[in-house]
Order: sequence, then C-alpha cells, then structure tokens
Amino acid sequence: MIDRVYNFSAGPSMLPLPVLEKAAAELVNYGESGMSVMEMSHRSADYEPIIAEAEALLRKLMNIPDNYKVLFLQGGASTQFAAVPMNLIRRTGKADYVVSGQFSGKAFKEAQKLGYDVVCSATTKDDNFDHVPALTKDCFRPDAAYVHICYNNTIYGTKYPEIPDTGDIPLVADMSSCIISEPVDVSRFGVIYAGAQKNMAPAGVTLVIVREDLLDYAEPNMPTMLEWKTMAENGSMYNTPPCYTIYMAKLVYEWILGLGGLDVMKQMNEKKANLLYGYLDSQDYYIAPVKKNSRSMMNVTFVTGNPDLDKKFASDAAKAGLKNLKGHRSVGGMRASIYNAMPYEGVEKLVAFMKQFAAENPKA
Ligand SMILES: *Cc1c(COP(=O)(O)O)cnc(C)c1O
Repeated sequence: MIDRVYNFSAGPSMLPLPVLEKAAAELVNYGESGMSVMEMSHRSADYEPIIAEAEALLRKLMNIPDNYKVLFLQGGASTQFAAVPMNLIRRTGKADYVVSGQFSGKAFKEAQKLGYDVVCSATTKDDNFDHVPALTKDCFRPDAAYVHICYNNTIYGTKYPEIPDTGDIPLVADMSSCIISEPVDVSRFGVIYAGAQKNMAPAGVTLVIVREDLLDYAEPNMPTMLEWKTMAENGSMYNTPPCYTIYMAKLVYEWILGLGGLDVMKQMNEKKANLLYGYLDSQDYYIAPVKKNSRSMMNVTFVTGNPDLDKKFASDAAKAGLKNLKGHRSVGGMRASIYNAMPYEGVEKLVAFMKQFAAENPKA
C-alpha cells in the first residue's frame, strides 16, 4: 500500500488521520447498532444522538449564542448564494455585496439573476483580488437588508484581517474555507455559512448559522428546501439530511475539542502559516502576490513568475509526496491549502521542497 501523502488540495481536502481511523473502526458496525451510520434511518434512536451531538459540539467549539440556529443542509455553499437573498432580502428589499474574489462574485451574480436590487459596494477586481477591500459602514446603503462577504477567499488566498463593521446591517459571511480554523465572534454576524469539504468534513453538508430574528423574511413562494425557517423548525430533518457527512463533522469537532478547541487550533494554524509566509518573505525566487494585511492562514498562494516552472513545481512536488499544489485553474501558479488537518510536518516538508526546487531550477 502507498503511504498517505501531504494533500494540499483546496477542497475536498485532507481530513485529520485520527478522524479517518475512528470512522474506519466504526464503519461497518456503529456502537451497539449492528449497522453502519450510512445504513441508519435518520429518525432512528441510533442516529438522532449523532446529529444532536454534532450540533452541541459545534455550539461549544464556536461558542454560538443561543439566539442562533445551526442548520446542516445540502447543496453546497453555492446553493446558499441563492438561499441568502431569498431568505433575507424582504427585510428591506435590497442588499449590498462585496466582491473580493470568485465565490463572492458568484454570490453577487446569483442575487442579480434572481432579479433583486443588489449592488456591489466594493471590489478589488482591478487589483486581481490581491487584497480584500477596506470596508467601513459608509460603504453600504444604510437600508440594505444585509451585507454579503466571503471571509476567506480560497482561490486568491486572501482573508479579512478583522470582521468588517457594517453597523446595524446584518453581516452575512461565506466561511467555507476558514470555518473552525480560529475563534470568531459569531454575534458579529447575522448569518455564517460554509460548505464542509474544505475544513470540516467530506463534501455533502453545508453549515448555516443564522440569527433567529432573521428567519422571518423568507420569500413566500420560495422553494421549501431553501427556506432556513423550515429547516430550523425541523431540526435540519425536514427531509433526509446528509447523515454520514454530519457524523464525520461530529468526529472532526470532537478532534478539535480534544486538542483544546479553537484557540489551540488557531495557534497550530498560525504556526504553519508563519513558517510558509516566513520562508516566502525571506527569499526572492518565489513571489507571494497577496498583500500582507490580507493574507489567508488557510490558502497560501505563490508563483515563480514563469508558468513553465510553476507547472514543473507542481508536478515535481507531487512526485515527492506533496500533492495538489497547483493553483486554481483560473489563476495559475501554486496554492498550498493548509487547513486544520494539515500537520506542521507537511508544511516543513513543503518549505524544504521549495528550497530544493529553487536551487535546482535557476531562473534563466
Ligand atoms: C469551495 C467554496 C465555495 C463553493 O462551495 P460548494 O460547496 O462547492 O458549493 C463557495 N465559497 C467558498 C469560499 C469556497 O471556498
């Protein structure tokens, strides 16, 4: 059998080895049930504690206030691009978007496509999204129903250095690629949503954390499956939830709590990111295009400046057991996604490889 590699994929991405091993041990027979979690009715006495526990652990991990609902949905973060306006825009009839990369651009376009009064209040498109916009309350229409941001831009490797101040306007954040990477003050947000497959679980579950008072604005004739209120009233079980993925998410929450929670997770993530950025800042073979105050702790982008060398880098790295370092198809270069599950040792190996590659492949 081939050894496990260091997988720098942006998503689906690495899962913690202890989580995979626990899941493997329980795969065919969970507890006293005599069956796999995959085979259980979602309404059975065996399954119900799993989803209840997943929610309870996440609430503990993220310190989610009681006036927020936690929903485990399907359809990926991309489905929420439509669900967000359909659930919220009736609050005032208009909404403001910040476009800081591809996913926030798609969220904005989806709301436009639905025919809503939405505007792009700020963007860094003209700078190739090499930083996130500086935002103040004055950037937004005061009567906007919400402001939508993407907190961590997976493709460009940028993140807001702090939570933007939107005053009284509810802030809606796509946190797909930074959820549970560090503590966040949930009370600063109206809605947080995230696809699971970056930092939380395998693909298949989408987390929505929504403040209760924002559940009353859904379009009357919107699809039931997209309506947060219905999902909240039914404990995410209006229909069959993604049972097994929720179970995997629960194992991931247990793993992080066992390490000491999000403060410890943040320290571990900072240590990895500092090692990689520290190396990038210490040399001039590789260029890190992101402005320093917008650097992501999860997705680190860099280029050699020569597309042929970039290509060789990704393929040589893969041969050395460092997989999926090619940048997103739309931007090229390299991207190392160093989510929670990536061990420090993986980043050490990456930096050692980068040094060796630079020495062996001088630029003409
Ligand atoms: C991956 C990603 C998405 C898309 O997620 P899906 O679950 O594939 O729909 C949206 N937003 C961000 C920030 C992402 O990283």
